[in-house]
Amino acid sequence: MEAVVSDFSPLLFGIQSFILLFGFFLIGFVKGVVFGDPFRTGFIHFVGSFKLYFGLWVPDKNLSLPLRFLQIISGFTWECIQNIIGFWVSIITLIGLDVRSIELVNGIVLIRLSHRFGAFALGRFIIGDNSIEPDPRNLLFQHEYGHVLQSRVSGPLYLFKYGIPSLISAYRNQLLHSSSWVEQDANRRAKNYWDTYVADEVWSYRANPIIDGSRIVNPKWWEFVLFVIVFFGLVSLPVALLYLSIILN
Ligand SMILES: [Zn+2]
Repeated sequence: MEAVVSDFSPLLFGIQSFILLFGFFLIGFVKGVVFGDPFRTGFIHFVGSFKLYFGLWVPDKNLSLPLRFLQIISGFTWECIQNIIGFWVSIITLIGLDVRSIELVNGIVLIRLSHRFGAFALGRFIIGDNSIEPDPRNLLFQHEYGHVLQSRVSGPLYLFKYGIPSLISAYRNQLLHSSSWVEQDANRRAKNYWDTYVADEVWSYRANPIIDGSRIVNPKWWEFVLFVIVFFGLVSLPVALLYLSIILN
């Protein structure tokens, strides 16, 4: 009989646990040594990493209890594609860029950088520049929340229906970007949300114009059907090829 050899090393386990727990503190600390204030940046990275890990578990307090529960489930299922991408983009951002703060607010994770570039939303992760604040009156934040709401309503379709069209529109024409249908949709959704959950009028029509005649464009039922067909088509093709190669051998 062969003896079962355990290769468990308490020392290695200890080191791995330490790196997992304090790795982001160390990254922040090193960045702080280079750019100034190591303990503060170390602390921001340490706390920030936990907010990233557990952000999807903190729902929007404005929603009713059943809807909060639904939002948590939705984050890990219905909206998982954009949330997985959002999570990893946020992790890479936290490691590589100058992150000023990470906050959990209105059921989202808000990451503020020192750079100037505007903002973008990936599922429930919003990454914004130095001017973004977790305040419905904040011009960037109030608009980006519209993309969060698009994700909520469209789930797996989000990137194809709103995310990529928005990116293309921004790339094509900065000036006309805010009047494109996808940005108008985001503005209208966001304004409805803030009107419902914040008592006074917070929307800035100047910064985030809402054009007469523009409308909310919900995903259509056949777009979900198309998604399922294309998605499972893409998954089943390699599986079928693999299966064929096995039975033919
Ligand atoms: Zn936008």
